[in-house]
This record gives sequence, structure tokens and C-alpha cells, in this order.
Amino acid sequence: MTDLTTSAFVHLDLPQSQLDNLAQLGYNNMTPIQAEALPLALGGHDLIAQAKTGSGKTAAFGIPMLQKVEVANNRVQGLVICPTRELSNQVAEELRRLARFQANIKIIVLSGGTPMRPQIASLEHGAHIVVGTPGRLKDHIQKNHLDISDIQTLVLDEADRMLEMGFKEEMVDIIGYTPHTRQTLLFSATFPDDIEYISRRFQKNPMQVSVDAHH
Ligand code: ADP
Ligand code: MG
Repeated sequence: MTDLTTSAFVHLDLPQSQLDNLAQLGYNNMTPIQAEALPLALGGHDLIAQAKTGSGKTAAFGIPMLQKVEVANNRVQGLVICPTRELSNQVAEELRRLARFQANIKIIVLSGGTPMRPQIASLEHGAHIVVGTPGRLKDHIQKNHLDISDIQTLVLDEADRMLEMGFKEEMVDIIGYTPHTRQTLLFSATFPDDIEYISRRFQKNPMQVSVDAHH
């Protein structure tokens, strides 16, 4: 079926296997944030994106992040930092749907409030993408369970909420373990000074994306 609307996923430079997967998920047209963010993120730009809950943020960062993962490389290649355990689980579930075209890709959750040991075991089995909360991620990094020195994509999801929850130091510390060559995608519903600080300090010529007419 031909889709002539410009917000159709088929207009993006994606492999046919992912286009087929998206069609199977019932994703035909991009949401507004996806239509703004995807062409830029797929082009390699850093993004500072304003988007609320329910706007389809996960695919906006997940599709470009998954695109760059090499499954044959057993190292962690993408990191998503989320405010809560529940949001981490939701993001991981959505990423697994978006990754169904990539056989054997491993996406794991490292969030607080759950035992460390199974998380360490899952890291030992190898993970391509890690999703988690700031405190627990920092803990795994400092104990040398988690190596993020080779990641290609860093996502800060709901960054304003993470700052509200007091995670600024953890965020800054975690980013310090990532390589400068990373692509950094920052999503936030609001833009307080702390977000501007994180963006200025850690992003390279970020493109601003907003679906809010007042922004
Ligand atoms: P957010 O993180 O912005 O709250 P999600 O990424 O969790 O939003 O997406 C919200 C819901 O919309 C999910 O159920 C997801 O499967 C669905 N969704 C995302 N993008 C699309 C799309 N392009 N077409 C149809 N459904 C979509
Ligand atoms: Mg989300």
C-alpha cells in the first residue's frame, strides 16, 4: 500500500526489514516528535527535544539507536537513562518491539529497587543496549560490571524529571564514562536551567526539536 503522506515511515532511510517491522507493529505514520526528530537523529545529529509523555519518544530515539547497533559486536553500544524503574521497563519493552528485525540483539534493564545479582549475570551474558535509572547505572559502572566506554548513542529520557528527582550528579558522572564520539539525544518536557547546562556541557551542536507551538 502506497503512503504519500510525508510523515510516513517509508520516507525515512531505513532498511526494509525495519520498515516491515514497523508496519507489523501498526506504525505507519510518524507521530509529530518522530517526524521532527528521526531525520535529524538518523543523520547523526545531537538532539535536544521537547516532548511530553505519550508522544512516541521511544521510537524517536530508539529507531536511530538500533540502526547503529552491530549485533556481532558484544559490547554495550546504546545507553538510555530514565528516571524510574517503571519507565525503564516501558522503554525496554518498546525497544524490543522496535528491534524485532535484529536477530539476537540483547536489550537489558538495570534499575534500582531490584537485586543486583541477576543484573550482573545479564551483563556477563552481554548486552547491546542498556536501559536504566541513574543510581543503579552509576553503581554498576563504578563496580566495573558495566562498561560504557564504547557506546555510540546516549539517551537522556525525561531529563527534567531526573533532575527533579535529584539525579544531576549521577547523570553527570555517568556521562563522564562515555566516549566523546557518542551521539547524545536529550528528551525533556521542560527546559529549566539545569537542562540547558547539561546540554551545553555534553552536546555537540544540538538541533532543537519541539512539537509545542509555544516553544
Ligand atoms: P512516550 O515515551 O513519549 O511517553 P512511547 O514511546 O511510550 O511514548 O509511545 C507511546 C505509545 O505510542 C506506545 O504504546 C507506542 O507503542 C505507541 N506509538 C509510538 N509511535 C507510534 C506510531 N508512529 N504509530 C503508532 N503508535 C505509536
Ligand atoms: Mg517514554
